[in-house]
Amino acid sequence: AKEAGRATYRFFTPELNRRASDRMWTENNLRRALANGELELFFQPQFAVGGRRLVGAEALVRWRQPDGSLVMPGQFIPIAEETGLILPLGDWVLEEACRRAAELGLHRNLKDGELPIAINLSAVQMRRPGLAERVAECLAAHGLPPGALELEVTESVLMDDSDTVTDSFAQLRAMGVALSIDDFGTGYSSLSYLKRFRVDKLKIDRSFVSELRGGDPDSGAIAEAVIGMARSLRMQTVAEGVETEEQFQCLAALGCDHIQGYLLGRPMPFDEFVAFVRAQARV
Ligand code: C2E
Ligand code: CA
Ligand code: CA
Ligand code: CA
Repeated sequence: AKEAGRATYRFFTPELNRRASDRMWTENNLRRALANGELELFFQPQFAVGGRRLVGAEALVRWRQPDGSLVMPGQFIPIAEETGLILPLGDWVLEEACRRAAELGLHRNLKDGELPIAINLSAVQMRRPGLAERVAECLAAHGLPPGALELEVTESVLMDDSDTVTDSFAQLRAMGVALSIDDFGTGYSSLSYLKRFRVDKLKIDRSFVSELRGGDPDSGAIAEAVIGMARSLRMQTVAEGVETEEQFQCLAALGCDHIQGYLLGRPMPFDEFVAFVRAQARV
């Protein structure tokens, strides 16, 4: 096997070779990061369009290097997915999100479903049996109601009709854990997939939000279609990557429910998020 490995290496261009060693570096260090507690969750607030009321947050993973610098998930999540490290990493994210949600509950008297924390799940995690049980155990261990957590999955998961995925969806739904489809409109799913899985929310991808221009009705064609589809299936919509007041106003006019983006709040470390929640509660 070693010989074969060496043989393939010979055909690598210097560029491919560099990428392969980058990958190996990342994999080894990511293993260490997990063991040493170098991962951290940032929280980005989500708001209701009406009244700009804080309604929840998305947890986004960051890797804090020993020197204090942050590595963004785009640089290590794909490698974690390829190497299988996404499973222990995903377990850590679930546990940490529940721990933080419970901690947040101490700061405010949260009712069920108030200020839920959304986490991102890779398709690999959805395909692993026992997801619903792990989620249930984690919620119970932290004394959280099911409404405290939301799960974001991408469209590709909807096209997987394996029993494992179908059962996990059904069990999570029965438990009362909300499910969102992330980056909606960028994949190839169709209405029929959405009907089959009955998710709670569609997240309108940033690429469609950045096209929005006031006074140009065509610019909102995709966002409008997604919002209309969501409404007819009784789902909520969350627009992501909202950076300008103009985009906010367009989305409000189209009837979008929730807004997430730099305009109203960037992803921030937990302590900052707690302060942010407190400040919101006062207004
Ligand atoms: P995503 O789930 O689509 O998350 C939204 C991304 O958009 C985040 O990037 C967020 O920081 C960024 N963002 C939010 N508002 C704005 C805005 O107004 N403008 C712009 N330009 N960007 C905005 P981030 O944190 O770098 O995460 C990138 C991706 O990494 C995520 O995309 C998600 O697919 C993945 N990811 C992050 N955390 C996790 C995790 O815990 N597990 C898994 N499996 N994937 C994760
Ligand atoms: Ca997401
Ligand atoms: Ca997204
Ligand atoms: Ca995205």
